[in-house]
Amino acid sequence: MSALSVLPPECLLQPFIVPKRLMLGPGPSNVPARISAAGAQPMLGHLHAETIEIMNQIKSGIQYAFQTQNRVTLAVSGPGHAAMECAIFNSLEPGESVLIAVNGIWGERAAEIAERIGAKVNTVVTSAGGYFTNEEIEQALDKYRPVVFFLTHGESSTGVVHPIDGIGDLCHKYNCLFLVDSVAALGGTPICMDEQGIDIMYTGSQKVLNAPPGTAPISFSERACYHHTGPITSFYGLRESLAILAETGLENSWKRHKEVAEYFHKGLEEMGLKLFVQDKKARLPTVTTIVAPPGYDWREITGYIMKTYNIEISGGLGPSAGMVLRVGLMGCNSSKANVDLVLEALADALKHCHKSRV
Ligand code: PMP
Repeated sequence: MSALSVLPPECLLQPFIVPKRLMLGPGPSNVPARISAAGAQPMLGHLHAETIEIMNQIKSGIQYAFQTQNRVTLAVSGPGHAAMECAIFNSLEPGESVLIAVNGIWGERAAEIAERIGAKVNTVVTSAGGYFTNEEIEQALDKYRPVVFFLTHGESSTGVVHPIDGIGDLCHKYNCLFLVDSVAALGGTPICMDEQGIDIMYTGSQKVLNAPPGTAPISFSERACYHHTGPITSFYGLRESLAILAETGLENSWKRHKEVAEYFHKGLEEMGLKLFVQDKKARLPTVTTIVAPPGYDWREITGYIMKTYNIEISGGLGPSAGMVLRVGLMGCNSSKANVDLVLEALADALKHCHKSRV
């Protein structure tokens, strides 16, 4: 008899079986076998020469993916939120003024983080599915004179890709740092950090890069980084995902995501479904938002597709909650074969799910 009052949990004494699932939500996406295998390689110490070399390779890979020569480029241990917090905390002091563009949940989230630091938070806000013109951004920079301007490149809650050109110059004209969240867009649609005058940028590992969640690439303008015991085996996965991007080539990756997304959009329109983002050029290739089919309960549709096809797609988030279905086609999941599968699943769901009389 054990003297312990808390016994070994029965559930942990059973085998652990993970189902195979096609992950076509807004992330995480599926992990190619090559990346999973990299993560299963033997553990090393965080200060071993090989680990340092892997971290250097990761740095070069991120510099390539971000298109930056910036030396302060690294992977933060943690999810996209860790990079987001790191970027905002290291670029703002309490009492300083920050301007945040809000066209979905990620701008809202950045504003909450900045408020918690005690920064003076000002926002420009537009409706879900919309974006800002450079004129609107300049007016707000002039009015609020912030030290940092935050913009979401790929707003995964609404499916909008924000134009970036010219905004870096505007920020610098007003003596302000340009901070970009490219968690949902990097690798799937063009962005060139140095050329576009971006001072700080971050992404996540679990979307286009297809690496397991847990490492978040970030690039800072001339800031110091900190040190701790990093998630070594996640580094292996991130290194491999960046190697795949380097072999594919950024331009080819952007092109494939664009072509696959357009093929998907055409198929959706042929089925009579409507895209949530009106402006074609503002449609984020990695995450497509579809107007929730009128008369249906969106939860029944996503539930049916999961149960019948073992495919994950999702509903809206934040300002798009209840309004849309979201389908992610990212990294290795960005293929016409996956589009055909998800179109078939959607058509079947619309036949079988309950339609109320409206
Ligand atoms: N920013 C954007 C644009 C995102 O899409 C996400 C994740 N959906 C995040 C930040 C946060 O990333 P994570 O879930 O890895 O913390």
